[in-house]
Amino acid sequence: MEYISTRGEKILSSGAAILKGLASDGGLYVPVSFPQIDALEIEKMCELDYAERASLILSKFLTDFDIFDLKEMCAKAYAKFENADAAPIVKVDDDAFLMELWHGPTSAFKDVALTLLPYLLTYARQSEGTNKKTLILVATSGDTGKAALEGFADVPDTEIIVFYPSDGVSEMQKLQMQTTVGKNVNVIGINGNFDDAQTAVKQIFKDPATVEQIESLGYSLSSANSINWGRLAPQIAYYFSAYVDLVSSNEIKNGTPINFVVPVGNFGNVLAAYYAKKMGLPVNKLLIASNSNNILTDFFKTGIYDTNRKFFKTISPSMDILISSNLERLLFEISNRDPSNITKLMSEFDMYGLYEVPVNIIDEEAGEFIAYWSDEDETSEALYNFYDMFEYLLDPHTAVAVAAYFNYIAEEDDPTKTVIVSTANPYKFPQDVLNILTRRYEKDAFKAIRKLELATGIPAPDTIAELSDLSVIHTDVINKSEVKNKVLSILHNINNAKESN
Ligand SMILES: *Cc1c(COP(=O)(O)O)cnc(C)c1O
Repeated sequence: MEYISTRGEKILSSGAAILKGLASDGGLYVPVSFPQIDALEIEKMCELDYAERASLILSKFLTDFDIFDLKEMCAKAYAKFENADAAPIVKVDDDAFLMELWHGPTSAFKDVALTLLPYLLTYARQSEGTNKKTLILVATSGDTGKAALEGFADVPDTEIIVFYPSDGVSEMQKLQMQTTVGKNVNVIGINGNFDDAQTAVKQIFKDPATVEQIESLGYSLSSANSINWGRLAPQIAYYFSAYVDLVSSNEIKNGTPINFVVPVGNFGNVLAAYYAKKMGLPVNKLLIASNSNNILTDFFKTGIYDTNRKFFKTISPSMDILISSNLERLLFEISNRDPSNITKLMSEFDMYGLYEVPVNIIDEEAGEFIAYWSDEDETSEALYNFYDMFEYLLDPHTAVAVAAYFNYIAEEDDPTKTVIVSTANPYKFPQDVLNILTRRYEKDAFKAIRKLELATGIPAPDTIAELSDLSVIHTDVINKSEVKNKVLSILHNINNAKESN
């Protein structure tokens, strides 16, 4: 299958699209068309395990990958999850279900794609016959960083550099990254927020001179952010898997539409749901759930995407994002896949931090989306009430999604069954969750974990509880203007170390 950048550049294979990550024109790769999955294939998926379901969906897009190799890669990736199931469904009541995407190695949904991406990249390197090493640049709002580090640590011929907002991630998220062991891992804090980190990283991809310098040092650039097709495609699979699980447990008849509620940041996760719908998955509404950084709520209401606004640091830090990169892929779909349209909008955006799309186009072409947002109080209330009602402990990001769901069912008389996408384990945010649940604040993260375990009887994942025993290795913090030079100096140092050996 061929891929096209949202700004026009064509590329011939999925392998090449995954290797490059971001197109040189600054756009994001999308498949030239959406393969279709019909009811019969959904029926057959009932018999498959998660890895098999994922490889089936992926094989429709990654047509230059051998199907048996894909199966093997998925099997290896998802063996790293509890029960080899990356997306178990938990029934809440007759109408609502949670899809728990955080049973992987780093306890966040990013693992679903990032356990697999290293295999896809290694395969693509071989099939594309590159002689360069791969440099993975990552900007993280908290969870992508650790999931990418876990996935790429000590992968041969690969260097990974993660940039995170120094004061914009949870203590546990930061510790997870700072303690990562591996010869090829680099973790660097930025004085700024996620948008600063992402913009600085994207700038490197877009600047031919820097790309050339990196190439001359023996590396070709790629990305582990959801701007990379290889990161997004695996996320489409779990929307199918959720549907198949509801069919096979007789919660719905095959063909009946369902709703999804997705907590959003960079717009990757909910975009994957939209792509699943485009492939034929019966989806009614896609609820977009934002925190106080409610730029997407405004966009879907008014057509105006305006980043000239206050940035809030919230208890759901992985959603503290004003520049949602993947929205560009949705804009591409709703503007008749016309790259010149997108190029125009994005150059306006680069100049003014603002663009506008006629609101009737959003209504007509993206009517399945409904956007909600909740402030800190409402999010806390959702977390508290959900535990009170169901003895189920949400993380603050999933609580934003639950708040959106509560708003939706209060407003709309919709009998459609709904799957709420649960994106992180609550123990990644122990102080805030404990505070909401017990109204007591514990400053020390590990004491908060123990108190939360005592209060709820729900055990913390070992990988988080044991972080206190690990030594902090990565402590660098730089300004956003230094990102490019930092990348180059890391590569220089590697090459120098090799020469002196
Ligand atoms: C990344 C993240 C999100 C936002 O997902 P996007 O794909 O960036 O929209 C939501 N919740 C958690 C816990 C995350 O780590």
